[in-house]
Amino acid sequence: MKTDLFVDGKWREASDGSRIDVLDPATGASITSVASATVEDGLAAVEAAYNALPGWAATAPRQRADLLLAVFEMMRDRADELARLIVLENGKALPDALGEVAYAAEFFRWYAEEAVRVAGSVQTAPGGANQIMVLRQPIGVSVLVTPWNFPAAMATRKIGPALAAGCSVVLKPASETPLTALAIAALFEEAGAPPGLVNVLPSKRSGAVVGAMLDDPRVRKLSFTGSTEVGRTLLAAAANSVLSCSMELGGNAPFLVFDDADLDAAIEGAMVAKMRNGGQACTAANRFYAQAGIAPEFSRRLAEAMSSLKMGPGAGEGIQLGPLVNAEAVAKVDELVTGTIAAGAHALVGGRKPDGPGFFYPATVLADVPSTAPVLAEEIFGPVAPVVTFSGEEEAIRLANATEHGLVSYVYTSDLARGLRVSEALESGMVGLNRGLVSEPAAPFGGVKQSGIGREGGHEGLLEYTESKYIAVSWAR
Ligand code: NAP
Ligand code: MG
Repeated sequence: MKTDLFVDGKWREASDGSRIDVLDPATGASITSVASATVEDGLAAVEAAYNALPGWAATAPRQRADLLLAVFEMMRDRADELARLIVLENGKALPDALGEVAYAAEFFRWYAEEAVRVAGSVQTAPGGANQIMVLRQPIGVSVLVTPWNFPAAMATRKIGPALAAGCSVVLKPASETPLTALAIAALFEEAGAPPGLVNVLPSKRSGAVVGAMLDDPRVRKLSFTGSTEVGRTLLAAAANSVLSCSMELGGNAPFLVFDDADLDAAIEGAMVAKMRNGGQACTAANRFYAQAGIAPEFSRRLAEAMSSLKMGPGAGEGIQLGPLVNAEAVAKVDELVTGTIAAGAHALVGGRKPDGPGFFYPATVLADVPSTAPVLAEEIFGPVAPVVTFSGEEEAIRLANATEHGLVSYVYTSDLARGLRVSEALESGMVGLNRGLVSEPAAPFGGVKQSGIGREGGHEGLLEYTESKYIAVSWAR
C-alpha cells in the first residue's frame, strides 16, 4: 500500500513530515496514515509537472494512448484488489466498489481512443482574404482536486482526458480517501510514465496547498469535483490567475414518476439512482416526486425494496449497503431525517441512527413529505428517499426546477412525447429517461446552474484540457 506523496516520479514524505490518519468507516478505526503535503510540496509537484509538460505535449498521440491503455489493463486485471482498497477507506459495499473500478478504468480506455482524434479545422475567411486555421493545443499543467465518494473514478475522469490532450497533472485527492489515488499513481509508475507527468499529493491543508498551486503562473487549468461551497471558493481563487476551470459540483436530483410509468422499472431505477454508493453520489436521486395516482404504491414498493437491502461492513458477504464515509455524514443525515419527520413526513422504513461502531445509517423512505420541507433543498448524501406527491406535469417541472442545482434529473413515464417534453424542460445537464444511471465515460457528464461548469467524459471532456490556437494564414495570392 502506497502512503507517501508521489512527486516527480518518486515517493516521498511531506517536507515537514506530517501525516493524515485514514479511517475505516465500517469500524471508525485507523487503517494507516499518509503523507500530508505542504505548500512547498505542492509547488515542487507543479515544478515537476511543468518540466514534464513539453516532452509529453510533443509525444505522439498514439504513444499517449498506449500509456492510458496500459493502465486501463492493469486496473482491469487488478479490479478486485483496487475495489477492496476503495471499500477499506471509503466504506462502500464491494459490488459498488467493483462497479466503480470498472467505470474508472473505462475513462482510460475511452481517452486512449480519443487521444488520436483531436481535430482542428481549416476554413476560408468569409471575405476570402485568408484561411482560418485552428489547432487544438494542450492547455498546460492541470491541477485536479477530487472528492472521497468515487476515489478512483473522479481521478481517472480527469487524468484520462488531461493526459490524452498532452497535459501533465497534479492531483490532490480527498483526505478521507487518499489511498486509491496513490494506488493509481503507482500504476502509472509501473507503466513507465515519465517522471512528473502524474503527481499525486494528499493534503489536509487543502486550502493553502491548492491555493498556492492556483497562484503559480505555471499552472493553467483547474478541474475540481466536490461540493458547490468549496467550488465557489476555488472559482474565486482561480480568478487571480484567470485560470480555466472545469467544475463538477453538488447535485439535488429530482426523480419524477408519472402515473403512466412502468412501476417495476421505476422502482428498479429508483434503487440505482438512490442507492449507488449508499446514496453518496452527486447524481443520487435526492427528491422523489410521484404523481398522485401512483404515489402510495410507489412509496410502499420503494420501502419494500429498501428494507430488503443488507447493511454491514462493505466487504462482508452479500452486503449491499456499507457505512457512510464519516461520523459527520451520519450526524447530518440523521438531522435531516429527524427534521423532515418533525415537518409532517413519516418513515416507511429506517429513519433511526443505529448504535456504533462504524458510521452506519439504514435505508430510509420518508412518505408524505411536504413540498416545502428543508430536506428537499439539501444534498442528503445518504440512503434516504423523501417522496413528495404532485398532481400535474407542469407542477412536477416547477418543483423539479426549484433548486440552485442542476446536475441530473430522472423521469419515468411510458409516454415518449411526455418523456422528451419533460426532459427538455428540466434544468439539468443530464436526464435519465426511464433510466436510473447516467454515468458513462463516452457521454458528456456535467451540470448547469450551480452544479458546475464544463463537462467530463465524451469528446467534450478532452476539449476541456485544450486551447484553440487560431492561425490566420494567407497561402493563396
Ligand atoms: P468537498 O468537501 O468539496 O471536497 C472536495 C475536494 O476539495 C477534496 O479533495 C477536499 O480536500 C478539497 N477541498 C476542500 N476544501 C478545499 C479548499 N478550501 N481549497 C481547496 N480544496 C479544498 O467535497 P466532498 O465532501 O469531498 O465530496 C462531496 C461533494 O462532492 C458533494 O457535494 C457531491 O455532490 C460532490 N460531487 C460532485 C460530483 C460531480 O461530478 N458533480 C461528483 C462527485 C461528488 P479535503 O478532503 O482535504 O478537505
Ligand atoms: Mg470534505
